[in-house]
Amino acid sequence: GQKVVLITGCSSGIGLRIAVLLAKDEKKRYHVIATMRDLKKKDKLVEAAGDAYGQTLTLQPLDVCSDESVKQCVNSVKDRHIDILINNAGIGLLGPIESISMEEMKKVFETNFFGMVRMIKEVIPDMKKRRSGHIVVMSSVMGLQGVVFNDVYTASKFAVEGFCESLAVQLLKFNVNMSLIEPGPVHTEFEMKMMEDVAKMEFPGADTDTIRYFKDVYIPSSMDIFEAMGQTPEDIAKCTKKVIESSRPRFRNLTNSLYTPIVAMKYADETGGLSVHTFYNLLFNFGPLMHFSMTILKCLTCSCLRRRTISPN
Ligand code: NAD
Repeated sequence: GQKVVLITGCSSGIGLRIAVLLAKDEKKRYHVIATMRDLKKKDKLVEAAGDAYGQTLTLQPLDVCSDESVKQCVNSVKDRHIDILINNAGIGLLGPIESISMEEMKKVFETNFFGMVRMIKEVIPDMKKRRSGHIVVMSSVMGLQGVVFNDVYTASKFAVEGFCESLAVQLLKFNVNMSLIEPGPVHTEFEMKMMEDVAKMEFPGADTDTIRYFKDVYIPSSMDIFEAMGQTPEDIAKCTKKVIESSRPRFRNLTNSLYTPIVAMKYADETGGLSVHTFYNLLFNFGPLMHFSMTILKCLTCSCLRRRTISPN
């Protein structure tokens, strides 16, 4: 029969693309429950889904930050039977921490970390009972490696990774699989929203040097990297489909081979010095030449340290 797939955060970006790709599966193997906070934002998804809408794809409201909403949504599913849960909803946060309120930081954790926990808590009792299921979580390369001026976002993804790594062991005993998808940069509204926000902001509380490093050094470099290394939401959707269709799904799934040296660096030097100093040099000694220096870094990194990735093709 059809597998029931519930996906969070489907009004845009990666979540929308995963929902559409699965709903349009040629063999109609999936029934997709595409969820979003506000159903008024459904148009883009409905349009992209085409004929699949109302057939292999249905919509439900879901706010991962609300206990009530999560419960209602899962209860609305026939027999509460969810075969595959895809935790995709997430928000970014960028900038010097001096100018970010504790409230804003907590909101990132409330969405990216506790939002995922809330979903998993709600579905695992049924998955365990059935001795089957697959939990997929949209993590990030930033779940494995810290990135300057992304301190809080990175921390929330590290939290995701630690939680899932711990839970994966127990769930395996119940024949429930757990997989993390770890994209590098992806061209979505996510990135646009953040860059737009940043341009408008004044960063009260941060000194002028810090603001300069952020706006004039980090932001241009970061845009270069998005330009040079970014994948599309479609790419990530294809990787995710591969992961859920694998007979033995891997736990960690990096999607971008251009990013593997960054992860490799961390494991190549257990003191952490290599990562910290490489990023320091990339940012402050190469600046806008970040893209160029990333290419050098790629060549320098021993090929035996290359991490295996899942490719969209
Ligand atoms: P996006 O902003 O297009 O999508 C995120 C979605 O989550 C949006 O539709 C948003 O409305 C939704 N969302 C936010 N808060 C929610 C809540 N409380 N309840 C329900 N939905 C909520 O950006 P995206 O790039 O598609 O992000 C999807 C996931 O991919 C995120 O978890 C993000 O951290 C991760 N990711 C993104 C990138 C990137 O470069 N874009 C890279 C690695 C990982």
